[in-house]
Amino acid sequence: MRIPLSNVNLSSVEVGYVNDALLSEWISGTGGYVTRFEAALAEKIGCEYVIATANGTLGLVLALQGLGVGVGDEVIVPAFTFAAPAAAVKLVGATPVFVDVHPVSWTIDPGLVEERLSPRTAAVIAVDVIGHPADYNALRQAVGTLPIIQDAAEAHGSEYCGRAVGSQGDVSVFSFHANKAISTGEGGAVLTDDAELAAQMRLIANHGMSAPYWHNVVGCNYRMSNLVAAVGLGQVQRWDYLIDARDIIAERYDELLPESIGRRLREKWATLATWLYCVLMDNRDEVLIRLNGAGVDARAVWRPLPEMPPYRDGRDYPVAQSISDRALFLPTWAGMRRYQVEAVTCALVGDKIAT
Ligand SMILES: *Cc1c(COP(=O)(O)O)cnc(C)c1O
Repeated sequence: MRIPLSNVNLSSVEVGYVNDALLSEWISGTGGYVTRFEAALAEKIGCEYVIATANGTLGLVLALQGLGVGVGDEVIVPAFTFAAPAAAVKLVGATPVFVDVHPVSWTIDPGLVEERLSPRTAAVIAVDVIGHPADYNALRQAVGTLPIIQDAAEAHGSEYCGRAVGSQGDVSVFSFHANKAISTGEGGAVLTDDAELAAQMRLIANHGMSAPYWHNVVGCNYRMSNLVAAVGLGQVQRWDYLIDARDIIAERYDELLPESIGRRLREKWATLATWLYCVLMDNRDEVLIRLNGAGVDARAVWRPLPEMPPYRDGRDYPVAQSISDRALFLPTWAGMRRYQVEAVTCALVGDKIAT
């Protein structure tokens, strides 16, 4: 028996919308499903403007470009995250400046940001890592009026101080990649309440065209296709079901795993939705070999980004390092069966798998 790290959860709702989009022959980035998907997401998160993008990484690039971040600028990025935010900074020609994360939330530590600010700092990216929101109030205190970009790619359904994650940044970005909690296969979105910024981002995402074949700025094509947006509309309509279904898997792991296994903590202002269930073990690498040997696609979490060749800076990030050494993602998806959770648990604690 093989158990993948994650799986998508699609229904007849998405199938119906995709068929409709196909039959309508509106399959490019212009079409009714793109507009409906953007409106549904805006309502779900509680923000004014949403621009659907081809993926989350391009959403981050678009957010940076919309804010005018480019060559010569520095952008603060957490040391512990999937690489996309740091790559986006590099892709616009700016320099990522890393900050260690907080031991409880695993998100950027606001107390360490100030010493990394410089006259060149143009923005800060906070990542709501593995479903835990960053501390946006503390971060705002630390950075003053600098724009905050919220990378909420792993936190669909979580809340910060009782408000949906995705509304805390000056610009917020979601990914809808196949392994995310709300998924279109490939896909992303940028969200903001700032009308001017929204207009600028929409312009850049559409070849910089303000009228047919009139290019006001250098743009690109970051659009999501109508077919993908049809999947997205169905997923947003099924949002609560999909988020709850993942939380049920986390509750099963909570129940079945022995107390001795380290779990993630939570700040009191955070309500966590489940992305990938995550545990902490000092003998993580040993356990990982056992899990993989049993056909369970568990994975070690990311290494600190400043260990990677393009991001090396010779500094130490002890908290990121300690998480990287010990944390493990367990298979998690909406609709994962109880026997699958049990099989992962057995393999993890070293029992024989009952089949
Ligand atoms: C998944 C992810 C992204 C974007 O991913 P895409 O595959 O480009 O949609 C960005 N940031 C984080 C933290 C992610 O986990």
